[in-house]
Amino acid sequence: MLKFEIEKTSGLARVGEITTPNGKIKTPAFVGAATRGTVKALTFSEMRALGSQAILANTYHLFLTPGSKLIEEAGGLAKFSAWNAPTFTDSGGFQIFSLPDVKITEAGAKFKSYLNGDKFLMTPELSMQTQWEIGADIHMAFDQLAKSENRADMERAMNRTHRWLDRCLLEHENQKLLAKKNKKPEQFLYAVVQGGTFLNLRATSARYAAEKPVDGFGIGGVFTADGMDEMLKVVNQILPSEKPRHLLGMGQEPRDLFIGAEFGCDTFDCVGPTRLARNGALYTLDGRINIKNSKYKTDFSPVDSSCDCELCKNYSKSYLNHLFRTNEITGKVLASLHNERFVVRTVDKIRAALLSGDFESYKTDFLSRYYA
Ligand SMILES: [Zn+2]
Repeated sequence: MLKFEIEKTSGLARVGEITTPNGKIKTPAFVGAATRGTVKALTFSEMRALGSQAILANTYHLFLTPGSKLIEEAGGLAKFSAWNAPTFTDSGGFQIFSLPDVKITEAGAKFKSYLNGDKFLMTPELSMQTQWEIGADIHMAFDQLAKSENRADMERAMNRTHRWLDRCLLEHENQKLLAKKNKKPEQFLYAVVQGGTFLNLRATSARYAAEKPVDGFGIGGVFTADGMDEMLKVVNQILPSEKPRHLLGMGQEPRDLFIGAEFGCDTFDCVGPTRLARNGALYTLDGRINIKNSKYKTDFSPVDSSCDCELCKNYSKSYLNHLFRTNEITGKVLASLHNERFVVRTVDKIRAALLSGDFESYKTDFLSRYYA
């Protein structure tokens, strides 16, 4: 079983620590999006320096290239990428179901490689095998994302997700035995809770996952913070409190992090902060700014004077504006450093506020200023 120690709880929120074969994660924690085994525009030494504790890579992308067997040969993702710290992989489902020509049957999802047109059938078993080869500490079960918000479609996708979870578990157990035999470190499996915006489906899905011998839970198919508090309340009251929970793909908006932590999620991942950064959108305590705006041309103040990142300590908005206007790579690097530091630091502060009992006031102060 994955070791998860809870230090303090406050309502549904908890402060804890997950221990993986590649190190510990103090929770709540923001997990860096390393889709292809790298965080775009940042090196892993920069990620470590800004306080990142864990990364999440994408099974679909790594399956296509360089291939999970190669990563296994290199000693697993943490070693291959020289990250050498805790790693997650998602199941690949989200990307596959977002492809235009994907065909889904009970067996799995048929899709074509965007690289060379090769056809693949991704099954729950293949997703598990691939994730074991990639060698992340924490895997996500292969789930089906519904293509529409229609209730019947959502229920069908959820039921299939449950049947696929059982298949994932069987394969995970096979892989576990194999790893033991080959003296490979243990890897852990999270079930994924689906059900969209329908609270009764979310409850059904949480009950189904709660019964299974998994190490933790991913909460998937969440696209907006609207109604997320109610949904997480329903789900996390059902999920066993002693196992960790990961909110999949949320954290672009700082409020996602506050809602996620308050309603019982321990880790979050999102490509949003670095994607926004590459487009020149930077977080500040007073809300998001677009550094390309001409008003920053002669603004010699830092992006966020309270931020301790390399950008804010050394450079002005004017300089960053110049880098973006001239399309210099360094601009994207500095902006990514800042945004990633901003979300990591915000979650670290949420953790500290939960520990000191100041969460409510921190949340109110932060959100009223950010969304003023
Ligand atoms: Zn900064």
